[in-house]
This record gives sequence, C-alpha cells and structure tokens, in this order.
Amino acid sequence: MSATPHPNPSHVWHALEVDKTIQVLESNAEAGLSSSQVKQRLEEYGANELQESGGRSPLAILIDQFKNIMLLMLIAVAIVSAVLDIRNNDFPKDAIAISLIVVLNGILGYVQESRAEKALAALKKLSAPLVRVMRDGKLTEVAAKELVPGDIMLIEAGVQLAADGRIIEESNLQIRESALTGESHAVEKQADIQVAEETSLGDRVNLVYQGTEVTQGRAKVIVTGTGMQTELGKIAALLQGVESEPTPLQQRMSQLGNVLVAGAMILVALVVVGGVLRLGWDAFEELLQVSLSMAVAVVPEGLPAVITVTLALGTQRMVKRNALIRKLPAVETLGSVTTICSDKTGTLTQNKMVVQAVELNQKSLRVTGEGYAPQGEFLSDGRAIDADRDSDLQALLVACALCNDSFLQEEQGQWKIVGDPTEGALVTLAAKAGIQKDQWSSRLPRVAEFPFSSERKRMSVICRTRQEAGGRSQEVQDYALSSLASHNSAYLMFTKGSPELTLERCDRIHTGDRAVAINDAQRQQILEKNNQMASQGLRVLGFAYKPWSELPPEGSEETSERELVWLGLVGMLDAPRPEVRDAVARSREAGIRPIMITGDHQLTARAIGIDLGIAQAGDRAVTGQELERMSQADLEREVDQTSIYARVSPEHKLRIVQALQRKGKFVAMTGDGVNDAPALKQADIGIAMGITGTDVSKEASDMVLLDDNFATIVAATEEGRVVYTNIRRFIKYILGSNIGEVLTIAAAPILGLGGVPLSPLQILWMNLVTDGLPALALAVEPAEPNVMKRPPFSPRESIFARGLGWYMVRIGIIFAILSIILMEWAYFHTQANVIPNELSRDRWKTMVFTTLCLAQMGHALAIRSNTRLTIQMNPLSNPYVLGAVGLTTVLQLLLIYVPPLRAFFGTHFITPIELLICFGFSSLMFVWIELEKLFINWQQRRKAHR
Ligand code: ATP
Repeated sequence: MSATPHPNPSHVWHALEVDKTIQVLESNAEAGLSSSQVKQRLEEYGANELQESGGRSPLAILIDQFKNIMLLMLIAVAIVSAVLDIRNNDFPKDAIAISLIVVLNGILGYVQESRAEKALAALKKLSAPLVRVMRDGKLTEVAAKELVPGDIMLIEAGVQLAADGRIIEESNLQIRESALTGESHAVEKQADIQVAEETSLGDRVNLVYQGTEVTQGRAKVIVTGTGMQTELGKIAALLQGVESEPTPLQQRMSQLGNVLVAGAMILVALVVVGGVLRLGWDAFEELLQVSLSMAVAVVPEGLPAVITVTLALGTQRMVKRNALIRKLPAVETLGSVTTICSDKTGTLTQNKMVVQAVELNQKSLRVTGEGYAPQGEFLSDGRAIDADRDSDLQALLVACALCNDSFLQEEQGQWKIVGDPTEGALVTLAAKAGIQKDQWSSRLPRVAEFPFSSERKRMSVICRTRQEAGGRSQEVQDYALSSLASHNSAYLMFTKGSPELTLERCDRIHTGDRAVAINDAQRQQILEKNNQMASQGLRVLGFAYKPWSELPPEGSEETSERELVWLGLVGMLDAPRPEVRDAVARSREAGIRPIMITGDHQLTARAIGIDLGIAQAGDRAVTGQELERMSQADLEREVDQTSIYARVSPEHKLRIVQALQRKGKFVAMTGDGVNDAPALKQADIGIAMGITGTDVSKEASDMVLLDDNFATIVAATEEGRVVYTNIRRFIKYILGSNIGEVLTIAAAPILGLGGVPLSPLQILWMNLVTDGLPALALAVEPAEPNVMKRPPFSPRESIFARGLGWYMVRIGIIFAILSIILMEWAYFHTQANVIPNELSRDRWKTMVFTTLCLAQMGHALAIRSNTRLTIQMNPLSNPYVLGAVGLTTVLQLLLIYVPPLRAFFGTHFITPIELLICFGFSSLMFVWIELEKLFINWQQRRKAHR
C-alpha cells in the first residue's frame, strides 16, 4: 500500500473543490502535514528543486573559449610559423607550442568559466528563500527545497512562489505570472471557485504557480506540485539564475583585444612591407619571423584569465563580508558608487522594536520591558497602573493583537517573533497586559482584511464578534470589547497605520467606553503627541476601529476605511545599529553620500538621521507629499541638498534615483518590498535585503545584503574599490611589458642585429607565465590604507584614465631602452666570441629574454603601491607576490640550465657572469619605478606646501 498520495499528473487541480484537493493530498488545512508525512513525501518526490538545464552545456562553454579574436590570431600565427618551418625542413616547434598554448588557454578558460558558473549557482543557493508553512499544527519557516505536495503554505505580497498550489483561502490575492505566461499585469486569484478542465494556464484563477510573484494580498495554499512537476519545471528553459553577464571591464577588455589585434596586423604589414622595400625579397622570411613574434608579443594572452579570477575572488571576499553579488558587473562598479540611498528600518536600525510609549485620550503611558519578552509594566507618571482595569488601554491592545500578522514564540527561554518586527512589538505589548493574540484571534476570528502596503501606510482587519455556539449566535462579551462592540455590531474592523493618515480618517474618538465626536483641539493634541514621540526617534503607529453590521465588499478600502473611531498612539523604539555610525563616517570620508529614504515619519527619520550622522541638526527632511508636488526639475535641484526623505512611497524612490542619476551620481539603492523592484532596477547598484527582503526585490537586485546592514554596503564598496584598483594595477603591469617586448623585437632588425631576439614560444612563456603568475598575485593585493579616503572613480572613465595609459607607454619605453641597450651590448659581446667556442653566438637572445623576464619581477615588486616605496611595505602583506616572483625566477633559470627545456624553448646556455649582468640590468627597472614614486611624493609634498 502506498502511504503517499499521487498528485501528478492525473489530477486537474483547477477543476477540483478545495476540500476534495485537501482530501486527495491527505493533508489538513489547519494543521498541515505531520513530520513523518513530510519525511515520507520528500523521499517519494524528492527535493523541491528544478534541475539546472538552463545553463550552457560544457561543449558550448569550451567552444566559446575559441571565439576570442586574440586566440584566433595566435592560431593564424601558428599556421604561418608551421608553413615556414616545414619549408625549411625544420621541426615546427613554435607552431606546436603555440597550438598547445591555445588549447591550454582554452581549457583554462573553460575550467574557470565552469567554476564561475558553479560558484554562481552556489551563491544562488545562499539566497534561496524561506517558505512559511503549517506543519504538525505549528507555523514554521522551511527552505523552499523542503516543500512537499500537501504542504499548507502561507503566502503574502512580495513572495515568489516556491511550488505550485491550490488556493484554500485568500484575501485580495493578486499574482504576477509573467514568468510563466508572459502577461505582465497581475492576475486576481480566488479560492472558492472551480474552473473547467480545459481552462488555459493563465485563466486558472484558483491555482498559483512556482516562480510567479504575489503582488498584493495573502493566501493559504495547499502545495500540489514541487520540483520538476511544477508548471515551471515543465519549461525549465525559463529558468532564471544569477545572471553572469560580462562586466563593463570585460567588455572593454574584449574591445581592447580588437584594438591590439588590429594594431598587430598593421605592425606586421609595416615591418614586412617596409623591410622588403628596404632590404629586398631575401629578407622576407626573417621579416616574417620578426612580425610573427611581434604579433604574439602585442597580445596580453594572460589578461582575460587574470580578470576572471580577480572578479571571482572579489565576489568571494564580498560574501565573507555579507554582501552577496547577484550580477557580476556589480563587483567592479561598486567601487564607483557616489551615493547610497538606504532604507531606515532594519538597514540603518536594528529592526528590533520595543514599544516604549502609549498615548490614549488624555493619558500618556510609558511601557517597561526588554526585547520581545511579554513582561513589563505600564507606568503613568512613574506609577504602574492596573492594565486590566483600563478599558481604553484594553481596547487599544486588542487592536494591537488582532490587526497583526506576527506571532510570538518562546524557544529555549528566548522570545522570538515570526513576522514583521513592528507587529511583533505590538503582540508583545498586548501580552504584557495579558491580551494573548492566539486567544483573541479565536474569539474574534478574522474574516476579511485590507492588507498593508507601503503606499497606503496602513492596514485593516475585520473580525467577527459573534460566534456560532451550539447553533445559536452568541455575542462575545468581554470587558475590553463591551465598549467597542457596544453598538451590538456583528463585525469590528481594526485599523492601524501612519498616525496622520489614520487620524485623517477618524470622525470619533474612543473615550471611557464610548465613541464621541472628535474635535479639532483633540486632533491637534494627537498630532502634537505624535510629533513629540517621533522627534525622540520613536516609530509611531495610530490605531482606530469601526463597527460593521455587515461585511464591507472586498477591495473597498478607500471607502470603508473612513468614519473610524480613534483609539490611540503607540511609539516604539528601533535603535540604530551601532556599527552604522562608523560606516556613515567612513563613507563620507570616501566621498560617498549616504541618504535615508524611509516610509516613516519625518521627525523619526530626522532624529535617527542626525544620530547616525546622515543629516545635520538644521537639515530638513523632504516628505513624500512635498515630492508629489515637485516637478522632476525641482527634484533634481533638491537632491543635492537633501539627505532625508520621509513618508515616501516606492514610486518616489524611483524618482529620487532618476534625479540623482541625472545629476551624474552613481547610485546604490536599497529596497525590500515588491514595489521597490523598479527603483532597484533603475539604480546603478540595486541592493535587496537578505533577511527581510521579498523574493521579488531580490530578483530585481544586483546585490543582496545577507545581514540587511548598511555597514555591509560600505564594506562591499570598499571591496569594489580594491578589485578595481587591483585590476588597473595588473593591466598596467602586463601591458607595459607587452609594449617593451614589441619595441625590443622591432629594434633588432633596425639595429641590424642578425636574427629575432625572441621566438613566439618565448614570448608566450613571458606573457602567460612570467607575467601571468605575478599578475595573479597582484590581483589579491590587500586594500591600500587610503582606499576609503579618496573620492570614487567615475564608472564611465576609460580604463586608461588617470595616467594608466601614459604609465604603460612610459614603462614600456623604459623596458625597451633597458633591453635594447643590453641587447646591443650582448650582441657584440657574444659575437666577439672571446670565450671558448662551445658557447653559442646566439646566446645574446637568451640574455635579452632573461632580462625582460627578470625586469618584470622587479616591476611586480614595485607596482604593489603607487606611492609607497617597496621597503615601506610589509612584504608579507601579500606573500603571493614574493612567492610568484621567486617561483617565476626559478622557472626562468630552469629554462636556461636544464638541457631538455633549453632545447624545447630554444634558449642558450649563458655564463654566470652574463646571468649576473642580466640581473643587474633588469634591477634597473625596479630602481626606476621606485625613483618615480619618490618623485611623485616630492611633487605632492611641494603642492601641499604651496
Ligand atoms: P523603511 O522604508 O525605512 O524601511 P518603514 O519600514 O517605516 O521604513 P514602510 O514599511 O513603508 O517603511 O512603512 C511606512 C509606514 O507605514 C510606517 O512608518 C508606519 O507608519 C506604517 N506601517 C509600517 N508597518 C505597518 C504595519 N505592519 N501595519 C500598519 N502600518 C504600518
């Protein structure tokens, strides 16, 4: 007998009643599945995961490696070189070696790319969402992959569905199914309906599908399909993973590749044509050899690999600091951020709310207690009051408990909340006076609601006040409720939200068991109290209620949330995160401006903003209402001065980003809600919250903060700057030497020296090994001390900006001068042949080869800093550079002194004295760069003096 039901594929869930569905799936709408059922079904159906089939196949990745223009040119060089060698009856060693390098490079690129894809897949898992489900009669959160058919899942606005399901009950549920149907408008969903079997996917309004997004409302859903049995699973090609688009730098590098290849072609043409014109056809073959070498020398073969590795290491370092990169370009562009627009609640503050003050009509109370523990007292003028006997307080606390979707839980003596901390604080507050949420929810069951949204800044729930007991309608009689329900109404609506907006909708005030008309003086007093609390940095909510004799229609919030009875204010403290103050100061020092954008009250926002150093005492906060009245041009004028935006809605965020961008700012913007997605997409770096963020906001983001913390953004920015600086460093390092090689090779025929100083194979060796290894080591160079003490670099600047291009040319020329002087001397020294005959007369070439390699070692040591002398730096702060330099030097010596290697690489034995001369010449490179640093420092000091 099979103990598990078989949900797929025969059932047509949309044509089935809810009860029948639950029955088929052997579940329970209230208690959910039991642990043993879950275990059994996990075994039967497997984890709720889509098989990754959307990525590129390994073969496609491999083929892509050879679509690189630089590799194609190397292949052409190999062919020409092979033809020349075969014609001369020589073994085509260079051609084979070049082909080997091409293949190796392809394999290396392949391994790196597949590793990068795997790493991104692992990152994706890290950001996998949690799902709220009922299991064993309790509400818990489980990882999406642990869902099984029959699970009872609770969903709400912002959630991305983790499985397919049938809706059991819902409230104003709207779902965007574009991932599945392509339809971008949200679809209204319903529970109490069956549709015909042949209904198409988009019209099955009683079902929800994996991968779609809840844009509004909430629902209870029974899971009908998981993993590959979902509709999304059936079209796995739609899989969206972490995107791995090429970064701006990678794009610029491939452009650079094109330029270099074109340059190489022109050089080859010039050398061959010019040479033949001057020297005649006899010289053709040698000229061709020279130009082949030049073509190989001009291409920085090692560069693409080093860049990929650097970006990958960057993402790893960022994850260690709690910033998860979703789109690779963010790694390098983070360093260019000039403005960080941050939410307040949870990002700048701890999002651990504790109610401190309650304001009833004519009565101010302070509340004691810590955290979410339901213990504390209500003090009036410093004396504890008896909360049970205060009907106004009781009525407010009932509203706190019922107009609420969070739960309080005790785990190992610790009180925790499940859900929104703002609401958790309210459940705790009510419990402090003995009003337990679960008891009250069963006494006054919720029958409808108008859910919270950041635009409305309020929410309402409608509860039934009568219970059907033994077939008779029995009115709930209670001390706290007798006053609220004195109207003998069948339903009570509780509303909470931003005090100003809630009060606006009240025409009465609750006082001493009665609702009386509210007058202007009372309104004024409430608003003043609200301001007072807010300017202490408290987050304040207003509460109201309204009796109904019958249920208002669904979706009628605008008309129904009117003529309310005011209950009171509740003020809660959400302390700033201690580390944020320092992070704000650091970002300011780094030329990055922090801006707070919050839905909260302007005075609360200002108090916290001033405390954190985001704003100064006199600064004003712009409110959402003011924003509404501003034209985009006005806003553009405003954004330069304003650091605090309060009571804003998500669409205002979009306008603020656009205005900042128009002013040339490079904007990072945080967001957590469904409606924040457009602003996150518009921002240069969209940042979602890992803990409190909705799935939709994460999907739209470039980066996810695993700890929701502002300080993490600043840390990630620092890492971004380090990555970018290091990339620039090794580009300088690699391309400088390429220029030196090309000039040296070109100089040989010009100086009339017989033969090509460097063979293509030796050049490949230099570009890949003796340049590549130290470049990799430079890629992990730690942050320079001033990395966060200078303004950000423009993301639009060219890679050659700020002296990089000039440095490359300058150092390339120095390289060439050194090696050409050495070459000239070594040539005549070796031709003079004063030493016994067994030494090759061609060993001047090996001396040039060795000097160029060793000069790059000195370059690597010196280039670690632009301003600090090498002796001022701790050599162990990046031991990899020392290691790479040591290893490369040894490898170079092996090439000269191990006969088989010598034979393969075409080098010649050189005497120890000659080797010393090479060392001496090459160390001049190091000396030169150190002198440059001294000169730059001297210039800067002189400038500072003036
Ligand atoms: P931030 O944008 O910095 O995260 P926030 O959390 O205050 O700030 P929203 O969540 O959009 O932003 O809330 C805006 C306002 O809506 C709050 O200041 C509060 O007055 C009200 N509010 C917040 N949460 C609730 C809730 N659960 N029920 C009713 N009203 C709420």
